[in-house]
Amino acid sequence: MSAASYIERVLAEVKDSSPGQDEFYQAAEEVLHSLAPLLEKEPKYEENGILERIVIPERSMIFRVSWIDDAGKVQTNFGYRVQFNSAIGPYKGGLRFHPSVNLGIVKFLGFEQIFKNSLTGLSIGGGKGGSNFNPKGKSNNEVMRFCQAFMTELYRHIGETKDIPAGDIGVGGREIGYLYGQFKKITGSFEGVLTGKGLNWGGSLARTEATGFGSVYFAQNILEKNGMDIKGMRCTVSGSGNVATYTIKKLQELGAVAVTCSDSRGMIYQEKGIDVETLRQVKEVGRQSLTEYAKLQPDAVYTPVKEYPEGRNAVWDIPCDVAFPSATQNELNEADAKALHQNGCKLVNEGANMPSTLEAIEYIQSNGMFFGPAKAANAGGVAVSQLEMSQNASMERWSFVEVDTKLFGIMKNIFNTAYDTSVEFGHPGDLVMGANIAGFRKVADSMIDEGAI
Ligand code: NDP
Repeated sequence: MSAASYIERVLAEVKDSSPGQDEFYQAAEEVLHSLAPLLEKEPKYEENGILERIVIPERSMIFRVSWIDDAGKVQTNFGYRVQFNSAIGPYKGGLRFHPSVNLGIVKFLGFEQIFKNSLTGLSIGGGKGGSNFNPKGKSNNEVMRFCQAFMTELYRHIGETKDIPAGDIGVGGREIGYLYGQFKKITGSFEGVLTGKGLNWGGSLARTEATGFGSVYFAQNILEKNGMDIKGMRCTVSGSGNVATYTIKKLQELGAVAVTCSDSRGMIYQEKGIDVETLRQVKEVGRQSLTEYAKLQPDAVYTPVKEYPEGRNAVWDIPCDVAFPSATQNELNEADAKALHQNGCKLVNEGANMPSTLEAIEYIQSNGMFFGPAKAANAGGVAVSQLEMSQNASMERWSFVEVDTKLFGIMKNIFNTAYDTSVEFGHPGDLVMGANIAGFRKVADSMIDEGAI
């Protein structure tokens, strides 16, 4: 069977067996299509049924999470943990708490995580989890009771050599603290079972900054390869959470100007550049809306989502040299990509997971813009999570500079691996193909070594 028909057959099976899981299907389509040149060259992957196996999680848990709100009423949410692939190491991937979370979202994130983790060069498998719980508007005590109820089921599935969750949307330092406390209470074990921990109890310096910093380091590699310097560049960033905040911080440190940020309700445009400290105070500390940022920074212009052009994300209408989508999936579509192109954007670098639609990626790549795919560009977070695991295992504590220097080196390696693989397969600079093939090959070869399991 040709590689193309093998891929289409497996994608048809994914579609049939995962009804309603649109994001998962989208992720599978992106990865599998880009593997064609490898599958053409190496029939062993088809002979060993690798595609059929890699699109099915090794294990998926769906569980009930019941907790008591401040009014004394029972509330119930869904909990998920998808342990997708452990061919190269224990499952690793974040937990997302957001009302939009369902099995399809967790599967898309877990699937992406397999290849991202492989690409870091570290020995970690892929997994992801979360809940449709919405931390917004909940009291600290409600968040704590929810996290305790969530961990009361999750604890039996995880462990420092088995599955090591971390944060993602809606799960930051506060939630990791409550989850870790409950794990310890139930098991009596103080171990590196979660990453993103507080600095006093096993966390790593620079983990908070890692995804955003890493995303900028990755963009720097792309620009430098093409004879450009990030210094002086005008950048647009979406989101205002962990990834966006530290992307903006690193951009400013390197002499670029980040002129936008956004949240689920609207966006900020500030010509002189976003003030990171104000942003942190409003979003990370105060958990408030960006309308508060506009009050504190009078020259900032706030546009609510309801005033965005129909079917568009207004962040991408602001002229820029580099765009950093860093909020959520499918936040940059083909029309957005066209607007970026018309305004002279040179590079789209994905900080969030799957922020660009397949049509947007196609448009970007065929219209002379550079593209840094999420799997590679945002892998800094999981890479430093692994450095946190190393520090926990050896009971060492590395300095901020030590961790940041390692992160910088890891992002360079990821870029080189993706770039060299794109050259090897005849599409120099196609980092989607390079990242997917390089990430896949290591996992697939390990699956063959480990037999039909
Ligand atoms: P946070 O929860 O810290 O921030 C998320 C940001 O995105 C907030 O500004 C939020 O707005 C906004 N947002 C969330 N959902 C939507 C939506 N449906 N529409 C518009 N805006 C939305 O999450 P992170 O910064 O950690 O994660 C952002 C992205 O980066 C995700 O795709 C995540 O999977 C990915 N990622 C994160 C890593 C990490 O280390 N944290 C590692 C690798 C990838 P609001 O404040 O209004 O909720």
